[in-house]
Amino acid sequence: MARKGIMGGTFDPIHYGHLVTAEEVRDYFNLDEVVFVPSGRPPHKVGQKITDPEHRYLMVVLATVTNPYFSVSRVEIERPGPSYSIDTVRYFRKLWGEETEIFFITGADAFAQISTWNNPQELLTMCTFVAASRPGYKLNIDRNFRDNVRVIEVSALAISSSEIRRRVRRGESIKYLLPEAVEHYIYKTGLYRDEI
Ligand code: ATP
Ligand code: MG
Repeated sequence: MARKGIMGGTFDPIHYGHLVTAEEVRDYFNLDEVVFVPSGRPPHKVGQKITDPEHRYLMVVLATVTNPYFSVSRVEIERPGPSYSIDTVRYFRKLWGEETEIFFITGADAFAQISTWNNPQELLTMCTFVAASRPGYKLNIDRNFRDNVRVIEVSALAISSSEIRRRVRRGESIKYLLPEAVEHYIYKTGLYRDEI
């Protein structure tokens, strides 16, 4: 049976927190592949300013190119309407067939919001959820969901996309928080520089 991971996110921009999490989960669960899925229109970020999906997609490609197990999907970018994870998991279930175990990777903060997602029950039965937690962080898991959720502690990385955007706006260094190619891409395109 094949084992594949899906790592969804806004990736505005992608950083080492995302990459370390995906790699540790891949290694721990012995996954054959982890597919990064940049969100087209994140339903939970409506009203917030989000960078053009093509920029976010390209940064994910640049960040993942050095890992042979990582790939990037455009499925949520191409799909019209809000990006619901349930539609994405249905898509990969169909693409990969029943013989593949699907691991849906989220950070603990995203997992804590799962009850607000579209159709969480069905989503949880379609795949194995991996909630990546920081050491010491207590994650509450609804009893109905427990069988389909695996919690894994990943090396604590207090990096967030919002902090990186804030630093770029203020002209502060973002070195070592994200891959160099992504850092250069941000400067070359002027992303996040003039954000309010
Ligand atoms: P923002 O600050 O804009 O909310 P973010 O850094 O949280 O961005 P997202 O694209 O929202 O990044 O997150 C995508 C996924 O990665 C989510 O499941 C989130 O929980 C997880 N994640 C984000 N940052 C980290 C981190 N430092 N370590 C582990 N997982 C993370
Ligand atoms: Mg977030």
